[in-house]
Amino acid sequence: MQDKAALRALPSVDRILGSAACAPVTERFGRAMVTAAVREVLAEIRAEPVTGPLPGSEEIATAVRARLERDERSNLRPLFNLTGTVLHTNLGRAVLAEAAIEAATEAMRDAVALEFDLGTGKRGERDDHLRDLLCDLTGAEDATVVNNNAAAVLIALNTLGAGCGAIVSRGELIEIGGAFRMPDIMARAGVQLVEVGTTNRTHPKDYKAALSPETGLILKVHTSNYRIEGFTAEVSSGELAVIAHGAGVPLLNDLGSGTLIDLSRYGLAKEPTVREAVAEGADVVTFSGDKLLGGPQAGFIVGRKDLIAAINRNPLKRALRVDKIRLAALAATLKLYRDPDRLAERLPSLRMLARKAPEIDAQARRLLPHVAQLLPSNFVVEVRACQSQIGSGALPLDTLPSAALRITAPDGRSLETLIAALRDLPHPVIGRIRDGALLLDLRCLSDEKGFLASLSALSAPHVLA
Ligand SMILES: *Cc1c(COP(=O)(O)O)cnc(C)c1O
Repeated sequence: MQDKAALRALPSVDRILGSAACAPVTERFGRAMVTAAVREVLAEIRAEPVTGPLPGSEEIATAVRARLERDERSNLRPLFNLTGTVLHTNLGRAVLAEAAIEAATEAMRDAVALEFDLGTGKRGERDDHLRDLLCDLTGAEDATVVNNNAAAVLIALNTLGAGCGAIVSRGELIEIGGAFRMPDIMARAGVQLVEVGTTNRTHPKDYKAALSPETGLILKVHTSNYRIEGFTAEVSSGELAVIAHGAGVPLLNDLGSGTLIDLSRYGLAKEPTVREAVAEGADVVTFSGDKLLGGPQAGFIVGRKDLIAAINRNPLKRALRVDKIRLAALAATLKLYRDPDRLAERLPSLRMLARKAPEIDAQARRLLPHVAQLLPSNFVVEVRACQSQIGSGALPLDTLPSAALRITAPDGRSLETLIAALRDLPHPVIGRIRDGALLLDLRCLSDEKGFLASLSALSAPHVLA
């Protein structure tokens, strides 16, 4: 009762909106948003027991501004990925090359000849922007592109095998994160799953025995995110191509990450390249644009001309196509591959993957005193050797020696508070927790100044109080 009487002293919505303190807030965010925020702040004050003097117009305007500024910050704002996973699916996978960013920006700002041939003045095809590049880089006859590799697999299966069976090894019935399960995708593609072999061993005779007049295709899936080791046998894609062609059906090879170059050149383990998969006789090969390739999200389909043409005629293609922004970024990314000598310089994901531990260690030692100074004195910061991961299911067992800033807190609660505060920064910092400490793996850090500037926002004493 007492509260109710006291609350009458709160300024009205109109009074707050008309106050001098509120004017710049309204100027910035507009009357509608400010009015709604004022109502919310007032409702929150009313819901709390009155313990001290009530806020006036000025304090409420300040609270309204803080609320609107917070709302305005995008959850897609740039962050420092110090998780140690370079192609982190939850953090957007590949960071794009400057050339790709510029191309996408230009395509966004203006009209472009997306489906228009500037040479003839006639209608063009959107795949034309990538076809030659992809054929050059992979040795395939033809190429097309869809929204992501999951879509590439879906449309390829549906085109090659709807109403028929697809023969696949039990060792390759993969699940990729985000509910991409090969048996489910097959069902949606209208293809009947014909499993052969066992989890650890599949032989040519297993495929041959499963062939029938109902067979639409043979499917090979790169087991990108796991390894079957020990007593194992798999049929190579070269052998599978011979079996498929002997039976008059195509071989579809889903490479997953699929790289365009031999990564051993950069000290990474060798993944099958798309060119190899094509040369080994696969009729259609599918792979991602934003995994090891280092571009925006996309699914590439390369292979035999007649089959790519059939895929392009599939009505699903219209539902899965990519827009001008991504096409521009993809073309710019692929063009970088024509100059392999300078690729690691220009393609951020490759540059990060190729960074050597001593260089990262030196960076960590350089940053250590500055970071230690920006944290409360009861936190301990030290340099630690660690292992980075490639991510996105590529080379799952391969780790890269790296270096991290390891932060230990006086207790678990303080560590949690720090981690939350780092997430809440205008330019958030995301690390990983290991053995009760926060590890900031510096493999993906290039902007040291920006990183320190971002951390300095932590030093506001209330943040870690
Ligand atoms: C990652 C992956 C996919 C799905 O690709 P997205 O680009 O994530 O849609 C499909 N198949 C394999 C083998 C993969 O590794």
